Amino acid sequence: MQMVTPQIENFLANSSMIRRMFEAAIELRKKYGADAVCDFSLGNPDLVPPPAIVNGLRDLVGQVERPGGLGYMPNAGYPDVREKLAEYLAREQQMPLQSEHVIITCGAAGGINAFFRAVLEAGDEVVCPAPYFVEYGFYAGNYGGVLKPVKSTPGDFRLDLAGLEAAINDKTRVMLVNSPNNPSGAVYSADELQQLSAILNRATAKYGRPIYLLSDEPYRFLAFDGIDVPAILPLYPYSLVIGSFSKNLALAGERVGYIATNPTMPGVQQLMAALTLTNRILGYVNAPCIGQRLMLAALGTQADASAYVRRRQKMASVLSDAGIDYTLPAGTFYFFPKVPGNVTDTEFVAMLTEERILAVPGSGFGYPGYFRLALCVDERFIDQARPGFIAAAKRARA
Ligand code: PLP
Repeated sequence: MQMVTPQIENFLANSSMIRRMFEAAIELRKKYGADAVCDFSLGNPDLVPPPAIVNGLRDLVGQVERPGGLGYMPNAGYPDVREKLAEYLAREQQMPLQSEHVIITCGAAGGINAFFRAVLEAGDEVVCPAPYFVEYGFYAGNYGGVLKPVKSTPGDFRLDLAGLEAAINDKTRVMLVNSPNNPSGAVYSADELQQLSAILNRATAKYGRPIYLLSDEPYRFLAFDGIDVPAILPLYPYSLVIGSFSKNLALAGERVGYIATNPTMPGVQQLMAALTLTNRILGYVNAPCIGQRLMLAALGTQADASAYVRRRQKMASVLSDAGIDYTLPAGTFYFFPKVPGNVTDTEFVAMLTEERILAVPGSGFGYPGYFRLALCVDERFIDQARPGFIAAAKRARA
């Protein structure tokens, strides 16, 4: 009996890698106890939200105690929230953004879906550098789109500009970049992004319909050693930024993100009207009201990210001790090291699991031969995992 569509059946089969890690974590915890498992599989921020969120929540009690205090709102979000966010993003992106160029979405995930719904037709392609956030393929597939990954350079994960250009054809609708990158931790330079924009300008002129440059930036706040995360909007007319407060305000469960469009984009008004509509008809209707209010109260602040700096140093020393090759991530709370020895990424992840260490194989991000570690656990688990990494790497090399 056909219970679900063949496409969803296929999606279920393809999402099994992360699901397997999730199930492995439950099994291991049941067997050995929660403290015995070093779980680096999930990118779920474990920080305390900043004080502005807690204070904002207190202030809300007075604000919602009125008719409609928690009622519907315009689909694009509260007008004052959009206005303040536009002011903030105008400074960040060095562009004259106004509230009409910003809509508040249900996280970055909701934003990407609203955007794809507005611009993708069946068979349209979304080109993106690999490794990439695994959900992108599902999001494009929701609207008949096809994700077309292009491998970044091995080890340092720079954009393969020639490869990206070669992947573009008359079906290409979106170039999707994510910097700082999940899972590689790479931050694309202004030079790389300028070259990419030049490619897109040429391709848009050649094919006669806009190829959008979508920059997914939930980790913009988490770039190390003073590295600059370049603004995307000044580089290319058909550009958009999707951002999120899930990670910087530790607000992932409240589902607040945004789409900001280049104010100089030809046809920007129609695109914004379309995004407001798709946000509604996808059933999100609007981003949660409490989340929007909290975001406004905390805009410009962030959770104390110093823990990620310490965890990054510690994980680097653990991997070095184990003789595992890695590039120090320039941003994000992920590491994406190379699998040691002659085993596959899934085999190595299984070896780590035997050491009660959970990681995700690079194949799950379109990049076999590597594995992802998410540093969203207490630092002591990184110390605890040291002997396990050393033992698994030794086995992989044997
Ligand atoms: N994009 C990337 C690259 C992510 O890593 C994530 C979450 O982990 C998202 C989008 C979704 O974020 P949000 O919680 O804002 O929907």
